Amino acid sequence: MKTVVLKFGGTSVGSIDRIKKVCKIIAFYKKKKNRIVVVSSAMSGVTNELVNKSKLISNNFDRAEYDAIVSTGEQVSCALIAGRLKHIGFKSRSWTSWQLPILTDGPHSSARISFVGIKELSKYIKSGGIPIITGFQGISNDFRITTIGRSGSDATAIMLAKFIKADECIIYTDVDGVYTTDPKQYNKAKKIKKIFYDEMLEMASLGSKVMQPTSVQDAKLNKIDIKVQSSFVSKSGTLITGTKKTFSNQIITGISSTKNDAKITIIGVKDRPGVAASIFRPLSKNLINVDMVVQNISQNGKETDLTFTIKSEDLKKTEKLIKKNKSISYKKLSFDKDLSKVSIIGVGMITTPGITYRMFQALASKKINILVISTSEIKISVLISSKSVKKAIAVLHKEFKLD
Ligand code: ADP
Ligand code: ASP
Ligand code: MG
Repeated sequence: MKTVVLKFGGTSVGSIDRIKKVCKIIAFYKKKKNRIVVVSSAMSGVTNELVNKSKLISNNFDRAEYDAIVSTGEQVSCALIAGRLKHIGFKSRSWTSWQLPILTDGPHSSARISFVGIKELSKYIKSGGIPIITGFQGISNDFRITTIGRSGSDATAIMLAKFIKADECIIYTDVDGVYTTDPKQYNKAKKIKKIFYDEMLEMASLGSKVMQPTSVQDAKLNKIDIKVQSSFVSKSGTLITGTKKTFSNQIITGISSTKNDAKITIIGVKDRPGVAASIFRPLSKNLINVDMVVQNISQNGKETDLTFTIKSEDLKKTEKLIKKNKSISYKKLSFDKDLSKVSIIGVGMITTPGITYRMFQALASKKINILVISTSEIKISVLISSKSVKKAIAVLHKEFKLD
């Protein structure tokens, strides 16, 4: 008898009809004599609504209360799923994360799951019950409700699969797998049959929101294979795995892009040890995430220019923090908004020379200007104007034969 974790995302449980459809999928697995654990997100749009309510109360809403409010959406969808399963004749009940418990470490709104109590859960599954568990949340050491970052139900499913020692973990969503690039943005995107954890991790971190980055990291650390499938259509999906068997020999596996990036350049900064730390210390204290960083080589040995990117929503705050930072001196600040990072990802890059040139040449052929570049072993990212993203994805998709 197999133990299967099934996770349903927001759109999959987005309406009463969708919940009824999801219950049919669960029933299908149950009838095949599997032991089943279900993890659900909130109905689509609900978490955003809750976030907006907190913002209307205060633009500096208490983080612990933020978690208490935004975690409530999952309780509703889980109860509706359990209620429907009971209605169609199955034994089922909902479980919130504090009832299990799902313990977390780390700060409110970006905590990480450290432990899942499975004693009661195992008993219930063995007795034939179908537990429906709230994704996205847990409790801290001091019994406060925590959340684990937006889209966190993916990570809840992976960690449940780990602790319950599941044979399979299936992420049901509104696309039938991981594609070479977002299929909603580019209609020539192709479904990837198998993808390595590292590639998926890069794609997810670089903007492919089909999987939450933390969840892929948890899957890699715990060697849990993930299947990504659609709850709308019955088609084979994508396997995310570390196993090297039967992989295609594509050099580039996928293309990701981000929205709403901003670039800051500090011109004429005094070039001395510790200056970069002085610039970034206040940003880090204020939880502003710095992404790409480029420091030019100083021409005269005294001054340099430093460029970095952040999310546009943090631009005003960052500008203020730099202007009031007494520990740095510089000549000028410049800002750019409406930028996007486009990245090509693939383990094939490690063994194939010339990929950087091909990427830059392809972008140049469409007159797309590159503002900042960053690379790792298996990805190359460029910062460009958001206006050119569609064009960039199309030309790169073609260049690396993903069409
Ligand atoms: P869920 O609510 O099920 O968690 P998400 O909205 O988080 O679903 O993720 C699914 C969405 O991810 C798809 O609708 C798709 O537009 C988007 N997406 C972005 N990049 C990719 C990609 N490379 N492959 C598939 N989907 C992608
Ligand atoms: N409901 C949460 C969110 O919208 C968690 C999730 O969907 O996975 O971020
Ligand atoms: Mg998601």
